[in-house]
Amino acid sequence: MLQVVQLIKDYRKFRAVDGVTFDVRRGEIVGLLGPNGAGKTTALRCCAGILRPTAGQIYLNGFDVVAQEREAKQAMAYVPEVPSLYELLTVEEHLRFVAMCYGTLDVFEAERDTLLERYDLAEKRKALVATLSKGMRQKLAVACALVHRATVLLFDEPMIGIDPAGVAEFKQELYRAREAGAAILVSTHLLDTAERLCDRVVIMSKGRKVAEGTVDELRATQRMEGGSLEQLFLELTRESTPEAPPLPL
Ligand code: ATP
Repeated sequence: MLQVVQLIKDYRKFRAVDGVTFDVRRGEIVGLLGPNGAGKTTALRCCAGILRPTAGQIYLNGFDVVAQEREAKQAMAYVPEVPSLYELLTVEEHLRFVAMCYGTLDVFEAERDTLLERYDLAEKRKALVATLSKGMRQKLAVACALVHRATVLLFDEPMIGIDPAGVAEFKQELYRAREAGAAILVSTHLLDTAERLCDRVVIMSKGRKVAEGTVDELRATQRMEGGSLEQLFLELTRESTPEAPPLPL
């Protein structure tokens, strides 16, 4: 599981994440939502061990991502909005390389064909990563996350640039991972998708957590019975984004 405790991240004098606490349990998909600049990517990058928190702790399966970096990262997969891939490997070599790094060549051998087909990469298995389209790169990054059997999956805007069939497949993949007991955190601006996909959401605005819970719980706390996640989101982030219009219910 993922535990984020009082996370603070400063970029010089600017506080991008300000004391955020939440967790993602096994078998759960949590949506990380917030307006542009809310601090979602910064928080995700701290969780992935790419950025060092200014203060606070992050635990991946009980391992501190700073103090026990190796153990923590072993069970974690992070797919950024723009994945950095090894351009001069072929698609198949790339998957294999990731599996080798994580000691899961058995998963690669057993699931290579299924993964390549599921993500429409079978035809491109011998193509260099450098020649892939944007969506194909995203799909390969997702396949890489799955080939090492991570139990904590972190996705930053994973559905941007993927075609509808790819998005549908990606969602199925998340359900499968959830079923297998993974803890999944997904940042997204697609609120309709988040409402259907996520078990809970964490909403950030200007670096702070402004709400957390199931959509039903948010409806109850905001007294917006029947409100959509989009309506709740706009209401919850309205104070910090004054230009947002008031909500008709
Ligand atoms: P978006 O939805 O637009 O992707 P976000 O919620 O992911 O936004 P972040 O990318 O985490 O937001 O940015 C949070 C704040 O931190 C923003 O004000 C941004 O300008 C600032 N920020 C991000 N990276 C840096 C950096 N390297 N140096 C300085 N400020 C940064």
